Amino acid sequence: MQGELTGGCLCGAVRYTLREGMRFRPYACHCTDCQARTGSAFSEHMLFALADLAITGPLDTGTVTQPSGAVSTITGCAVCKARIHAENAARPGFASLRCGTLDRSAEVVPAAHLWVRSKQPWIVPPEGVPALAEQPGSQAEWIALVGPERR
Ligand SMILES: [Zn+2]
Ligand SMILES: [Zn+2]
Repeated sequence: MQGELTGGCLCGAVRYTLREGMRFRPYACHCTDCQARTGSAFSEHMLFALADLAITGPLDTGTVTQPSGAVSTITGCAVCKARIHAENAARPGFASLRCGTLDRSAEVVPAAHLWVRSKQPWIVPPEGVPALAEQPGSQAEWIALVGPERR
């Protein structure tokens, strides 16, 4: 997704603008952590630079320590509890947008499907889109898979 993006929470108290900047392509994550955190079958993530985000409204956060030891902090609306973005302490300066909060969320097309090992059995990733059993093993592999789109 290119250009300036806008979005917000369910109740409208939180709004954000993500200016054109450093951003990866969106991907779907079918890991069991995402299933539990979203209460759904998978989540849509898009990595971006926090410096590109302007967000207003009442925010609160929740944290979880991942098996790797890195702390993941999710930020959302304090009123309706919709989740907007998550930060991983191992990746300072960056965050992962929850793409369903975008005003134009219908334009989000996952460039890859991760953790299909634990996907719900009724989900069939589209043909021609990379689907990994787990997730990329290195930063170089992440960039090759969902790195910034070239214009
Ligand atoms: Zn809200
Ligand atoms: Zn996940």
